[in-house]
Amino acid sequence: MEKHEVMALANDVYDDIQAAELEHAIDFATKKHEGQKRRSGKPYITHPLAVAYTLIEWDMDIDSVIAGVLHDTVEDTDVKLEEIETMFGRDVAFLVDGVTKVSQARAGMRDLDSYLPQTKDNLSKLLIAVSQDVRVIIIKLADRLHNMQTLGSMPAGKQQKIARESLEVFAPMADRLGMGRVRMQMEELAFSYLEPTEFKRLQGLVKKRLGKSTRKLGAVRLEVEKELKKQGIEFEVNGRVKSIYSLHRKLEKANGNIEDIYDLMALRIIVPDKETCYRVLGILHSMYQPMLARIKDYIAVPKPNGYQSLHTTVITPSEEIVEFQIRTQEMHDWAERGLPASFHYHEQKNTKGYTRKKHTAALPTELQWITQMQEVASRLREGEEISADQLNIDLFSYRIFVYSPKGDIYNLPEGALPLDFAYLVHSEIGKHAYSFRVNGKIHAFDKPLKNGDVVEVITRKLSQPKSDWLDLVKTSHARAKLRMQLRKLGILQAVSGAAAIIRDKAVRKSKKKQPN
Ligand code: MN
Repeated sequence: MEKHEVMALANDVYDDIQAAELEHAIDFATKKHEGQKRRSGKPYITHPLAVAYTLIEWDMDIDSVIAGVLHDTVEDTDVKLEEIETMFGRDVAFLVDGVTKVSQARAGMRDLDSYLPQTKDNLSKLLIAVSQDVRVIIIKLADRLHNMQTLGSMPAGKQQKIARESLEVFAPMADRLGMGRVRMQMEELAFSYLEPTEFKRLQGLVKKRLGKSTRKLGAVRLEVEKELKKQGIEFEVNGRVKSIYSLHRKLEKANGNIEDIYDLMALRIIVPDKETCYRVLGILHSMYQPMLARIKDYIAVPKPNGYQSLHTTVITPSEEIVEFQIRTQEMHDWAERGLPASFHYHEQKNTKGYTRKKHTAALPTELQWITQMQEVASRLREGEEISADQLNIDLFSYRIFVYSPKGDIYNLPEGALPLDFAYLVHSEIGKHAYSFRVNGKIHAFDKPLKNGDVVEVITRKLSQPKSDWLDLVKTSHARAKLRMQLRKLGILQAVSGAAAIIRDKAVRKSKKKQPN
């Protein structure tokens, strides 16, 4: 990547002043990285330039792009953060600092299963950086994507490490932000390095299988197009082929039989509005026989990362099984591009739209986890003990949506229990929880909630938290609130789980000693 390529793209997107500022940053970074080389032998500056280019393609604001250009200067050259602040302003400096901290944190968390206690500080730095400004992680994703694209010139050991980390940390992060295309690019690259033989085998398998079905699918497509036109519907159809990595994961579940994978190739229909999505679903079902178990309404109940679409799988008269995905252009953009697309749509391209501090309300429900992450981060900072398991649940598990009877949406990690919900709504509701009704039926305290559940907490004024509730909460939020209440009630000391109590006490003592 070279300067003129970045500037050509930038000139189309940003105004003259912004473009000039970007050019200034590029010249500054070029000078600072002078003499440094990438593993491939190319000048180092090609990397930050590639990152900036990607960020422009993702429709990011100019501050993010400039921070992308400067992202390695503080770590790898003699540039000081203050210098960046003076030259490019506080926002850019904040972003560069965040990206630098993520890199430092990363060094401490080699793999997700074994957070060591000493990595806690690093991890909390990561969390704070991410939760204060989502753009930090978006820049980091662009950085990682380019590193994956150029992974070939790294030594084999490093390739494995970086690929694994991309698969375990960065691809899920991209998924959380709804950035489906980035997640897929990252997974495909990582998988091709981690299991090269399997990757090639599956690639071959897909090619063979697609050759067979493409022609049949083409006939179905024509038929559908004809019918939609007849019904006066405005639409666009395109085919999508399943990625190698998601095929690999699915095959693991389906005993390795590719014949059992129905959605190897799907037809995607994009229409102007939500109502038309449902109309098209109806038309398809009147043309072909749907497989009932495979109808999915992700419009009414979006996936936890905000993904929306209607999915259906039908059987044609010639016994061809075809999957359809129906969505609006806006839903499509979200599915492919995620959070940056949403900023684009809401025209919040000014800095403040991205930062959570000032604009908490601007974050869509599916991104509540960012808020929750900041909470975890600040508790870590205050010296609270949070176990590795706990962190994994809070940060890296899949999320579900549940509803209050009034229809308010709450976002919880998968596996969350009713008390987690109660404490999320309000700590007093948790405190006085007496029983639960889920989708109208009585629900046990130890039975996990599912995506889309409507959860009603039945409270009794005189009902109090009990010590065995500590086994009935999964999130660290609920655990912290519950602990506090148990301590106030004098119950926690009486529990036989001595270790927990000692740790709690130790934390409180050490907090008193240290005045900061
Ligand atoms: Mn970098």
